[in-house]
Amino acid sequence: MQDFRVRFAPSPTGPLHIGGVRTALYNYLLAKKNKGKFILRIEDTDQKRFVPGAIEYIKEALEWAGIVPDEGYGYGGEYGPYRQSERTEIYRKYVNRLLDEGKAYYAFDTPEELDRLRKEYEARGETFMYDHSVRDKLNNSLNLSEKETQERLRAGVPHTVRFKIEPGRELVMHDLIRGEIKVNTSTLDDKVLMKSDGLPTYHLANIVDDRLMKISHVIRGEEWLPSLALHHLLYEAFGWEPPKFAHLPLILKPKGKGKLSKRDGELGGFPVFPLEWKNPDTGETYSGYREEGYLPQAFVNMLAMLGWNPGDEREIFTLEELIEAFDLSRVNKSGARFDPEKAKWFQQQHFQRLTDDEMLDMIYPVLSEKLGFRVEGKALKDYTEKVLQLVRERLVFPRDFWTWASYFYVAPREYNPKTVKKRWKENTGEILKEITEVLQQTEPWEARTIKENISAWITQKELSFGKVLQPLRIALTGDLKGPDLFEMMELLGKDETHKRIQKAVEVLE
Ligand code: GLU
Repeated sequence: MQDFRVRFAPSPTGPLHIGGVRTALYNYLLAKKNKGKFILRIEDTDQKRFVPGAIEYIKEALEWAGIVPDEGYGYGGEYGPYRQSERTEIYRKYVNRLLDEGKAYYAFDTPEELDRLRKEYEARGETFMYDHSVRDKLNNSLNLSEKETQERLRAGVPHTVRFKIEPGRELVMHDLIRGEIKVNTSTLDDKVLMKSDGLPTYHLANIVDDRLMKISHVIRGEEWLPSLALHHLLYEAFGWEPPKFAHLPLILKPKGKGKLSKRDGELGGFPVFPLEWKNPDTGETYSGYREEGYLPQAFVNMLAMLGWNPGDEREIFTLEELIEAFDLSRVNKSGARFDPEKAKWFQQQHFQRLTDDEMLDMIYPVLSEKLGFRVEGKALKDYTEKVLQLVRERLVFPRDFWTWASYFYVAPREYNPKTVKKRWKENTGEILKEITEVLQQTEPWEARTIKENISAWITQKELSFGKVLQPLRIALTGDLKGPDLFEMMELLGKDETHKRIQKAVEVLE
């Protein structure tokens, strides 16, 4: 069997969108499943669109997600260099081969000339295509003598190299997800293979590299489907066997039509990038899944399910389980709608599967920041471990710990006025003063005994439980939130419980 070699080939034109991470993920899963290689290639032939920091961002994002390349730019390998801007000489050789064989030609048309043509066509309601129907009337080597062409080249007249596509052929191609795809070559234009700056276009470099890097399967976004026919023709022109192709469905907006965009994220308050990204030109910052507190395993699980399903009810997977279960035949043809709530659900599922120690490792930094000092000592760590037991079920992100447990660390500074109005009655102060006595005598200070004593007192006084327990909760947390009241009292300790009740009575009476 042929070696399984796939590549992720991003262009470093900005941060990696989660759609790009999903493409990388599917490539990775297939490589691992087939004991093959996952390669990172940087496609930076478009120098004008290069963004500083983008390559580093891509690598960091892949590594954070656990989708680590086996080979490629920054990872070594036998087929380098893996960055296209370092391969210019290689492409030149292959372009020359097509020129020599009459499969490509020099085009001297200036941008202004082409622009004028485009406008003329537009004015007639047509679209200009540089193709078989017009190329023999344009300024290119097909219409010049060999001598004229050579003279222009020697004189350094700016030019591009175009691929000569013969019309009238029905190409029948195969996509692993979409099945048979037919395209008539008459609908294709003579794409530029080499730009006037001497650098190859995406199409030429991509084909040459996939060939030289022995890529067996090209798995990429649906936006490249229109280029498939051209790519097939290029393979044919070189006399090469094409790799297998699979075009992944788009990731769609949460609502409405079209592709999930940066703007959707801004409007909906969710990240569309794996890591935070700061635009080096404008300084604008975009949030990332990592910085939002997502676990990489949750992020990857969520992405895997965007456009793929295992064929049964399972939804929660680790990366290893995904490798095991993944199969291109279960990738959908139609777009996958992104659902920010579902992303949170995956996070919750994975977060809840962490051990206490794993959770604590993520919680300590949050706590340290909130408290303003590093959580270090054994006593504070032991205490936090106990607090965690009381709130852990409610946590989705590490930061939620503070939302649910802040009152274990700081006494309430204010009391929710709405709750107070509803639950703090005329005789509440009296009741709490008496409860203080009961608590004073409670030994040992444990949830069980506290509960017994308070309950006995309430029954004896023929009061309702709500009348006593709700104000107690307000006194301890400032609101009606919090886990089991008696567990909370045990953890806070006798002194602190007292202090808080006294303070509430003082403030609220
Ligand atoms: N450089 C292309 C991109 O940025 C790669 C497309 C492909 O995988 O062939 O999406």
